[in-house]
Amino acid sequence: MDSLKFAVLPGDGIGPEVMETALEVLGHVARKHNFVLQYEESDVGGIAIDRQGTALPPQTLEACQSSEAILFGSIGGPKWESLPPAEQPERAALLPLRKTFSLFANIRPGLLYPELVDASPIKSERIAQGIDMVVVRELTGGIYFGQPREIRCLDNGEKEAIDTMVYRTSEIERIAEVAIRTALGRNKRICSVDKANVLANSVLWRETVTAYVKENAPDIELSYLYVDNAAMQIASDPGRFDVILTGNMFGDILSDLMASVCGSLGMLASASLGTGKNSHGLPFGLYEPAGGTAPDIAGKGIANPCAQILSAALMLRHSFGHSEAADEIERAVHRAVSSGIRTSDIAFETQSVSTQQMGKAILSNIS
Ligand code: NAD
Repeated sequence: MDSLKFAVLPGDGIGPEVMETALEVLGHVARKHNFVLQYEESDVGGIAIDRQGTALPPQTLEACQSSEAILFGSIGGPKWESLPPAEQPERAALLPLRKTFSLFANIRPGLLYPELVDASPIKSERIAQGIDMVVVRELTGGIYFGQPREIRCLDNGEKEAIDTMVYRTSEIERIAEVAIRTALGRNKRICSVDKANVLANSVLWRETVTAYVKENAPDIELSYLYVDNAAMQIASDPGRFDVILTGNMFGDILSDLMASVCGSLGMLASASLGTGKNSHGLPFGLYEPAGGTAPDIAGKGIANPCAQILSAALMLRHSFGHSEAADEIERAVHRAVSSGIRTSDIAFETQSVSTQQMGKAILSNIS
């Protein structure tokens, strides 16, 4: 029987609440689809600082290194905001995890079911069919990592800041490959977003993506948008997109814009894939909800567990190759929401349910 070994890092705030529900759903599909879950829970983020003095304790990192994927909750909160920036949960745990596992590809599905169009700030008649798009963002290169990076003093006493944007062909090709695989499992359309009218990086990005897609996936319909126009299109007509492929900084901004047009963060999952392959011959990945620890509702038992559950589905698909089980979870979430069961973030005229009740509704749609 296939054994799926992954690290579970619930983190802070609503993290442990939604993780519990996601693990129940995973356990259920594992029994149904005949695979075994082998996981260990470890501290990360604020709770790890409180218990072990650091946001990413060595034991937690070891548990991740001996696993084939990480199912992550979310970390941080007001309690740890006064710490020096380098010790704060996100910086001290997420960045080292990204670096250790070379998590170069961030996949963010932007999903809004037609039943939930009222959750979006966009007029419902413009998105009557809902939103179903994916942003594939390069995560370890570009302007966030280029050197030199400094603020220096000039002879005249003025200060000058420098950031450097660097992309190599190989980095662009490997993220293009992820976008191709994503698009092939969907509607076979990629929109590559850059600023090729201004940036040399974007000229290389566009040239490389064009050549790579032509050679490796000629069936894909490839289009291009400048990033300013892409932002406008996401904010006015998100239904036109299938897969958006873009670099680190543009992806950072566009994926958050996409999240906001999709309504609640409680519905949005994400995957960050590494360069390494696990024993299933698939990428090691870190899977987490798009939102944070939601301090405003933490501890109340009302957080929406869908983002965490959908992140678990992404893990089954991308790191373990169990696409049928992943599809089944995604269908069950959609059915539960369609049947009117809603946590408060997505309940408008209906009564809202608790995290656990939402989880039970999803489970009942799996069996
Ligand atoms: P947030 O992203 O946690 O939440 C924004 C809003 O969305 C809140 O009103 C919250 O209640 C709601 N929300 C988010 N997830 C929800 C869910 N599952 N169900 C229902 N409602 C949900 O807000 P923030 O203020 O940006 O961040 C709070 C903390 O989380 C900060 O410390 C931040 O640094 C941290 N954070 C961590 C991660 C991460 O772990 N990757 C990501 C983003 C933010």
